[in-house]
Amino acid sequence: MRGTVWFVGAGPGDPELLTVKGRALIERAGAILFAGSLVNEAATRWAPPGCVIADSKEMTLPQMAAWLIEQADAHETVVRLQTGDPALYGALIELVQPLDAAGVPVRVVPGVSSAMASAAAAVESFTLPEVTQSVIFTRVEGRTPMPPGEDLAALAAHRTTLCIFLSITLLHKVEAGLRAAGWPEDAPIVVVHKASWPGEERIVRGTLSDIKQRCRDAGIVSQAMVLASPTLGARHWPDLVKSKLYDPGFTHRFRKACA
Ligand code: SAH
Repeated sequence: MRGTVWFVGAGPGDPELLTVKGRALIERAGAILFAGSLVNEAATRWAPPGCVIADSKEMTLPQMAAWLIEQADAHETVVRLQTGDPALYGALIELVQPLDAAGVPVRVVPGVSSAMASAAAAVESFTLPEVTQSVIFTRVEGRTPMPPGEDLAALAAHRTTLCIFLSITLLHKVEAGLRAAGWPEDAPIVVVHKASWPGEERIVRGTLSDIKQRCRDAGIVSQAMVLASPTLGARHWPDLVKSKLYDPGFTHRFRKACA
């Protein structure tokens, strides 16, 4: 019988942010392939004795697929640990296709994305009543081209929350996109480096006009989330519009209005 390959979201870095299900799979894994440059190796500490553990850092995608297929022939549970959530910028489908072709069963376990861990680190909310109710996960163009209609200037025109992945070395493009969409120079920007990594997390707060310099001064050049949103800093707003859900005058399924 063939084993199953589980793509498990390892979360943003803190091993305690792995899901209970992800941890249970690691505990019974016969083989684990983890993305060493991005996933905290500590996540493999729950692996059973004798578990085959490999780092995919220096493998190509075909080598990774071949490794997973070979391990699925020998073990019931094979785990591919991906950073954050496997559905975001993770080469999930590129690996699933060869496994499908080889007839290896595949399952996916979601993980805490670094976007959510960055909001948590900075105590920010991506949505606020009457400010914005939408979130866009995006990136700026690097070696991977952006499909038509998805350049940052077009997305930023919505004035909603932007979680910008893979772009810390391209802050000049982030700035240009936001400016082209008419964001003001004092628009708040938050950069979170290694969100949730014990002892390594850093938060840089700035504005459209100074965030690049602040990141340069802080020496942040990798593994960082760029958050641009009209909600940033709301913790200190005196005139916040409260959510209707908790409004005393608002009746809903679980509570009648008070007055
Ligand atoms: N699937 C992952 C994203 C992988 S792409 C997820 O859901 O988080 C890699 C990019 O994610 C990095 O360039 C960076 O922008 C972001 N990233 C990953 N881990 C991070 C962390 N701990 N803190 C901040 N950003 C992180």
